[in-house]
Order: sequence, then structure tokens, then C-alpha cells
Amino acid sequence: SSPAHPIPVTLFPGDGIGPEISDSVKQVFTAADVPIKWEEQYVGNEIDLRTRSFLTWENLESMKKNKYGLKGPMATPIGKGFRSLNLTLRKELNLYANVRPCFSLPGYKTKYDNVDLVTIRENTEGEYSGLEHVVVKGVVESLKIITRHASLRVAEHAFRYAKEHGRERVSAIHKANIMQKTDGLFLKCCKEVSEKYPEIKYEEVVIDNCCVMLVQDPSLFDVLVMPNLYGDIISDLCAGLIGGLGLTPSCNVGEGGIVLAEAVHGSAPDIVGENKANPTALLLSGVTLLRHMDLEDKADRIQEAVFKTIAEGKYRTWDLGGKSTTTDFTKAICDHL
Ligand code: NAD
Repeated sequence: SSPAHPIPVTLFPGDGIGPEISDSVKQVFTAADVPIKWEEQYVGNEIDLRTRSFLTWENLESMKKNKYGLKGPMATPIGKGFRSLNLTLRKELNLYANVRPCFSLPGYKTKYDNVDLVTIRENTEGEYSGLEHVVVKGVVESLKIITRHASLRVAEHAFRYAKEHGRERVSAIHKANIMQKTDGLFLKCCKEVSEKYPEIKYEEVVIDNCCVMLVQDPSLFDVLVMPNLYGDIISDLCAGLIGGLGLTPSCNVGEGGIVLAEAVHGSAPDIVGENKANPTALLLSGVTLLRHMDLEDKADRIQEAVFKTIAEGKYRTWDLGGKSTTTDFTKAICDHL
């Protein structure tokens, strides 16, 4: 029962296990009758001079036109001297906030069963500004850029997210005691925005202290907002609290309502082609995308089917201690739909 006008959504299957887990998402979304049509986009084999990256102009145009997209992991060769695909996407599409919900999965036991937090990472600047150079032989310099504009918009996103999702607290994570100017400005902006949201509690936590608190008692946190590099590290730490990279979704949001959901993990070269990958992270990323598209009923149905399959424990992938292939696990989810 396909709808007459399905909504176009850009899909980057990505590298490594990307195409395998993207196939799972396509199957599950079809089983749930989600009214979208995928517009698949493939990254080029050589640098597109218009983007200075393997990402083509057409890749970016598809996202700009559709506004909604789902992305598999993309591999970044280290030290090859061209721009990372992920960085290019974030910069070119102005995807300024990376939102990563992290919650204990019902029925899957880890050391903690009370995790329910969201990390919101500034996605466009900080240590990821791409400004690195050799000063003299043996000495390199990397510039960390923090702007008022980018800090205010990510802080605004964090508080709006907290308000819209019935959350009580926003913690700004920083190292302003050492990086007084950069993290200092970031904090100042968070504080300024917090004053517009008196109903949400606001606190500032130094990043090293935040790490101790997270591993001792993750329930101490609710919504966390932070500069780029801290966000990268803390969100992976959070993934570890609930069972690993195969489970955690994420979503990049940008100006003008653009949304690109993606799993937190990479292309997993060690298991590629073995039908072993866990598609949960990409599936739940797809669920967050559906919520942005106001397809809440479809999002709920898919999320429930994924949770149920994992909770029952009959079909679990190898990373969760199970023996199921990606194909069998996907089929079990479709059966629940
Ligand atoms: P990785 O996330 O690919 O793998 C780390 C470990 O987690 C591996 O043992 C892998 O098998 C496992 N793993 C990851 N996803 C899994 C899944 N869905 N199911 C089961 N197991 C899973 O990290 P890496 O090896 O450091 O990076 C590989 C490549 O991915 C690099 O080129 C890196 O740049 C890229 N990367 C891309 C993204 C992205 O596109 N957003 C994010 C991180 C890394």
C-alpha cells in the first residue's frame, strides 16, 4: 500500500558494512510501510573539484533538495591529505548539532540499567576546523576555533531539545579552567541561552569530572552540550555504557530544517562482508529521522519492533553476544512489524 506521493529521502549507503546495514533499514522501512522513497547517493572515486572531496556536488544537492537524509558510515583514510567526507558533509550542509540519544535497551543487560541521556555536540568548529600546519620542522600547530555564533546556535538547540522532550537539565561540558578563551566563550554562550529557559536547570561540568561521573552513575546526567572534540569522545563513552557502537543512533541537524541521521560507528572493516554487522544503530538513527519528519507512528512501530527483537534474545547479532546474521536479525524485526 505505497502512498501516492512518497517523501524523497537521501540515502548514503556508505563504506564497509554501510551497504549491509542500509539494506536492513530499507527492508524494515518497507515492512513498516514508511511513506518515503530513497534517493541513493554514492560518493565518487576521485576528488570532485567543486567540493574538494570525494563527495560530489550531486551528493550535496540531493541533501539540500530533500532536506532529509540517512547516512551509513564513511571511511576516512588517515593522513592522505584530502578533506574527510564526514567533515565536508557537516560543513557544506551546515549541520551544526549532532544529537545522540543514549538509553539502556530493555532486556539487554549491561553494567547500568538506568542510562537515559542525550549528548549534543557542536559539529562545525572547535578542534575540527581543519586548520593544522607545520610551524617549523618537528613542530605543528592546530587551531581550535570557537565562535559566538556557533556556540549560541548549538546551545539554543540543546535547550529547545530539552524543552520539547520534557527533559529537566542541560549540562555544559567544558575545560574552561585551562582553555579560558575558547571554552570560556562556549560556556558564556550556554549560560546566556539558559537564561531564556528558566524552567530547565543549567549546570557547568568540567570534562574530566564529567567522565568520572558518567562511568560511576550515568543517571546523574540528562542533556549534555559540548564543543566538537569533547562531544566526539563523550558520545562514544556513552555508547559503551549501553552495549556498544552497534546500538547507538545519532542525528545531525542544520539550518533551514536539514536533518542527516547517521549511526555513531564507523565502517567496521574487520567484519565487512561477513553478514555480522548489527543494523540497530542505523535503524534507530532512521527512527530519529522519522520523528523529525513527523512520522511518529512509524517511528514508534519500528523502535518497538527493534526493542522487542533484542529483548526476546532469540535473534541477536554477534556484538551483543548472539549468533544471528544481519539478515536473520533483520527478518526477525520485519516479522514483528
Ligand atoms: P568502527 O566503528 O568502524 O569499528 C570499531 C569496532 O566496532 C570494530 O570492531 C567494529 O567491528 C565494531 N562495530 C562498529 N559498528 C558495528 C556494528 N554496526 N555492528 C557490529 N560491530 C560494529 O571504527 P574504526 O575501525 O575506528 O573506523 C573504521 C573506519 O570508519 C575509519 O575509516 C573511520 O574514519 C571511519 N568512521 C566513520 C564514521 C562515520 O562515518 N560517521 C565514524 C567513525 C569512524
